[in-house]
Amino acid sequence: MDANAGPDFTPAVGDHAFTPKQRSLLALAHQLGRDRFAARAAQWDEEASFPFANYEDLRAAGLLGICVPESESGLGADFATYMMVGAEIGRFCGATALTWNMHVSSTMWTGVLADGIPMTETQRAEHATRRKLHFRRVVNDGAIYAQPFSEGSAAAAGKAPFGTTARKVDGGWLVNGRKIFASLSGAADYYGVLCTEDKGDEKPDARDTLYVAVPATSEGFSISGDWNPLGMRGTVSRNLLFKDVFVGDDEQLMPRGVYFKGAQTWPAMFFTLAPTYLGLANAAYDFTVRYLRGEVPGEPPVKRRMYPTKQVAVAQMRIQLEQMRSIFLRAVLEARPNPAKDERMRLYAAQYTVMEGANDIARLAIRTCGGQSMMKHLPLERIYRDSRCGSLMLPWTAELVLDRMGRETLYEPGEKDE
Ligand SMILES: Cc1cc2nc3c(=O)[nH]c(=O)nc-3n(C[C@H](O)[C@H](O)[C@H](O)COP(=O)(O)OP(=O)(O)OC[C@H]3O[C@@H](n4cnc5c(N)ncnc54)[C@H](O)[C@@H]3O)c2cc1C
Repeated sequence: MDANAGPDFTPAVGDHAFTPKQRSLLALAHQLGRDRFAARAAQWDEEASFPFANYEDLRAAGLLGICVPESESGLGADFATYMMVGAEIGRFCGATALTWNMHVSSTMWTGVLADGIPMTETQRAEHATRRKLHFRRVVNDGAIYAQPFSEGSAAAAGKAPFGTTARKVDGGWLVNGRKIFASLSGAADYYGVLCTEDKGDEKPDARDTLYVAVPATSEGFSISGDWNPLGMRGTVSRNLLFKDVFVGDDEQLMPRGVYFKGAQTWPAMFFTLAPTYLGLANAAYDFTVRYLRGEVPGEPPVKRRMYPTKQVAVAQMRIQLEQMRSIFLRAVLEARPNPAKDERMRLYAAQYTVMEGANDIARLAIRTCGGQSMMKHLPLERIYRDSRCGSLMLPWTAELVLDRMGRETLYEPGEKDE
């Protein structure tokens, strides 16, 4: 496609003066989603199985390396570009977009985001050498990375040190612990785990969080537990167990102590779950328009658009979608290290708006389209279930976003009540 021409579709993030790279990546994602992922989505949902076929397509298109820098033979997408493309994929398959986000984040956090985190010269040099290894695995071998942080404790919410520990030993680390809800379990080649450095008698401290890649083939590593959830079933997010798992020093995805600084410097790193759900909101809206116009392939061409109540509902859905797109786009375009207070508040508001809004739009879509629209052979009931999961995801669940916004509005850093 001509990289300077506008896309011949409205991207899930809405209209914008996209760069040539954004235009071509959006077109690629749209084409893959429409022609390949949409038709397969029911299968992953029905079986609660991982979308391996979609990953073959993502790999062939170079999209596993979307955030690997061009100097390392990746596609070199920045934060905003990735967020736009993620939403386009989510429009066609939520589970693919969400798992792809876990993989991409492993390269984005170590790549473009790490470039904005303060490090000593020694740390910067160490990081530059080590991340090349991970980038090469992704680009040359098509390796997939997972991002298992959650443990069922207060750690993934950022309120306590991770219970999974890493003890320094000769040439590497010994990892012990357990993770829950690990999307891509059984599909990933590497698991990017957050652990707390085990410093013997010292009290565990979140500042000692270590971000390390555990190869799936490691001795002492195992996957367990059932997976039969309401939505996002294709993410296959089972439990991981680490029992004296040895990983070499080169598996560190960030130098010691840098992850903690990164989380404080770059709050937008936690916004990367939102594009999937903006995509799902678009999907619910797209379906509703087609359904009311009697244009859903394979369905009787019954038109329902002439009823004023349906027109009002579609208008309400469009208004909410435009609100979601606007705040999302503004938040991704202004994302940067050490954002100003207003930018941070907007980021929280964007997360809340997208995560709660996606399910709101899906709910309205089912109410408006009616009973026949929620049959299993149509995508709407899956979109409704998938979209419910967004506001449950740590560290920025809808509840925790409200907590943060309220507190950070009323208290400046360091302020306390007597
Ligand atoms: C489809 C899906 C895929 C996922 N994939 C991954 C993955 O790949 N990697 C990963 O690390 N995690 C993943 N998660 C897990 C997710 O991020 C959360 O960790 C998980 O949903 C938490 O569930 P819980 O019931 O243990 O929450 P709990 O910790 O029991 O919390 C329940 C609710 O209480 C609130 N809450 C929690 N802590 C606090 C607090 N300190 N103060 C106030 N309120 C609080 C939050 O709103 C939270 O939603 C996934 C989740 C889903 C649904």
